[in-house]
This record gives sequence, structure tokens and C-alpha cells, in this order.
Amino acid sequence: MGMVRQMIQQDTPPAAVAKALAGLDEAIKGTVPPIWIEPMAKWAGYCSWSDGFESEIRLSDTACGARFDPDSAAMARTTRAIILHEYAHRLMPAGYGHNGAFAAMRLVLALRATNLPDAPEHPDWWSVKLYDVQDHMNDSLITMPQALAWAWAIATELSVTAATADECAVAIKNRWTKYLDAQAHRAAHKAQQQTQQKQLETGNAQAARTHRNDKLFLAFFGLTGWLGAFLALHH
Ligand SMILES: [Zn+2]
Repeated sequence: MGMVRQMIQQDTPPAAVAKALAGLDEAIKGTVPPIWIEPMAKWAGYCSWSDGFESEIRLSDTACGARFDPDSAAMARTTRAIILHEYAHRLMPAGYGHNGAFAAMRLVLALRATNLPDAPEHPDWWSVKLYDVQDHMNDSLITMPQALAWAWAIATELSVTAATADECAVAIKNRWTKYLDAQAHRAAHKAQQQTQQKQLETGNAQAARTHRNDKLFLAFFGLTGWLGAFLALHH
């Protein structure tokens, strides 16, 4: 179970946090970092890899139910969703943000945590959101549905393996790099095809123009011939 350090005056962690962490490390094959409970934070959770805080996870005490029903399963699930979102940030640090690779990591953890006690009524993967792939909102190389489809395919494959959460993170990073390369290659190929198509269309238009001119030329000669015959007949 992840260690819980608290910044508020409490002898025991909030019940929702204790419930959310119960059996979680074993389920996700990882080690949830130390958790700080932050009083009245504006955010639900937070995980930083660069500010010297040992990449610990911070949870808002309001989000994890310290001030609400301390024993509710729903609160434990909500708390677990925040913990797993922040832990995914810990595993996929700088540069991944909320992209397809991050979403894949988030889904691996959620699919694994789905086996915990209050499942299957409310499986944890339900809590993975479009928020988790938001970096692709205006991305023409990899769209949101593409990122989500990629993340889902990778996560369903990796979540059932014996690989630890850290090993899954490495695999996701490698495959994401390859996917990015493939998408970039595809985009370059498409651009090249479009240029060729345009050149072909320009060529066709030119040919059509020449053909039209030829027809006009022939029509003119046909007309002069007919006119010549007509004049000859009337002389
Ligand atoms: Zn986040």
C-alpha cells in the first residue's frame, strides 16, 4: 500500500484514501508514490516530476472525501481515479502531457484496478476521460479518436501481461515513438500524393484545353470547306 503523508492534522488517512489504496499496488503491479493530502486545493490531484518533491502525489482533501462521507465506496473510487491519473503522470513524465501514450498508461492502470473489491459494478476504466487525450484536440497528425483508439489497443494488450507498471511505461514509450514516426511518414506520403494528383490534374486541364483548341481549329476548316463548296455551287 502506498504511504500516506498528510499535511492536515489527522492521525489516520481519510477513509476514502485508505480504501482507494487497498490492494492497489498489487493490482496495478506498481508502487504508488507517497501521497500528500492538501487542504482545500483548487485541483483534485497533482503530480510533479521536476520540483524536487520526489514525484509524490498530492490529493485535495475535498476531492478524496475527507470532508464528506468518509466511508463511501464511490468516494474511494473517485479517489483511486485521481491517484491513478497522477501515478500515470509519474510513469509518463515530461513531454507526454495528456497525449495518447499517457492515456494508454492511464488505461493500463485502470484496467488492472478494475479487479479491486467494488468492481465489476463500477469498473475503474470508466473514469478514464477524453481529458486524458486532450493534447490531440487540434492535432492533425494524430486526432483525438486516433489517440484514444491507439491507447485502448495498447492498454488492453499490456494490462493482461505480467509486466510491471514501470515496464508497461517503457513499452508504451517505445511504441508511441514508432507510432509517431509512422504517422509522420504517412502524412508526408499523403502530401506527396496530393502534389502528384495536383500535377496530374494540371496536366489534364492543359490537355483538355489543347483538345478544345484542336476541335475549334477543325471546325473552322470544316466551315471554310463547306463555305467553299457552297460558293462553288452557286457560281
Ligand atoms: Zn493530468
